[in-house]
Parts: sequence; structure tokens; C-alpha cells
Amino acid sequence: MSRELIVYPDKRLRQKSARVVKFDDGLGALLEDMNLAMIEHNGVGLAAIQIGEPLRAFVVNIANEEGERLPENLMEFINPEIVKAEEEILWNEGCLSIPEFTEEVIRFTKITLKYQDRRGKPFVIEAEGLLAIAFQHEIDHLDGKLFVDRLPLLKRKKFEKEWKKNLKANAKP
Ligand SMILES: [Zn+2]
Repeated sequence: MSRELIVYPDKRLRQKSARVVKFDDGLGALLEDMNLAMIEHNGVGLAAIQIGEPLRAFVVNIANEEGERLPENLMEFINPEIVKAEEEILWNEGCLSIPEFTEEVIRFTKITLKYQDRRGKPFVIEAEGLLAIAFQHEIDHLDGKLFVDRLPLLKRKKFEKEWKKNLKANAKP
């Protein structure tokens, strides 16, 4: 059993996560828990706050051509910072914390990211497409933002309506 996944509109999703300063076993254990939760819920990425830890860390695992997410393709990002963003694109996004809802949002298709690994070693990575989108989506989580916050007003209202309807439907015995 993995740790509880925090779901919209839980206020914890709104808090700004703090920088990681301790690169110890506790961080390693947290990253394992995040990976487990991501696998259990079949997600592309997961930020620490989604399992209740307000720390600037996220994991990503992009499926291969066969659609499998292999353990060796797991990537961990600590204290990530976008240093370059290029070319806007409309991308159909979803979020483990907002189940069963997808909508198009404007993102950048090329991202250069500065980050640290679980030992605190600094790296820079350039990404395109899904991985670049995942970076932006997960960093939003670290800043207390959700992809629905990026929707134009009408689409945002449509989302709130659908969400309430689903809650009612699920509440029925
Ligand atoms: Zn998300």
C-alpha cells in the first residue's frame, strides 16, 4: 500500500513547497514512496506534495514505445528550476490529483531544467515534448498551482461544474 494520494480541492495542494536541504535517507525514502504512488495510480509524474510532503521534489517516468513504464526509466528531480523555455504549444493534460479530467493548456515544448539528484549533485537537462510538459506540470505543483488554474475562465467553470457533478455521482450508494 502506498501513501494516500491528495486529491483536489484539498488545500495542501495549494501550499508552496520548500527547497530540499537534507539529502539523506529520509529523502531517499520519500522518493521511493513517490515512485510507488506514481506506479499505483499509473501516472507520468508525481510531486512530493501529492503525497503530503511540501518539498521541492518530483518523479517522472515516461512510457516507452510499447507503453510500459520501466523502473530503469524513473527520473528524480530535486530543487528543479526552469532556466529556459521555448515554443508554446497546446497540450492535453491530466493530473493524478484531479482524476478523470483532462483539458488543453498552453505550455512550452522545449525546457532546460536545472536540478539536483538525491545526493545533491547538480545537473542540467534539456527536454522536449511530454517530458518538457511534465517538468512544467510538476513544478506548478511545487508552487501550489494546478493545471486547471491555467485554463481560460469558461473552461475553468466547465471543470468546476463537471467536478461537482462527478462528486455527487460518486457519493451515491
Ligand atoms: Zn499533477
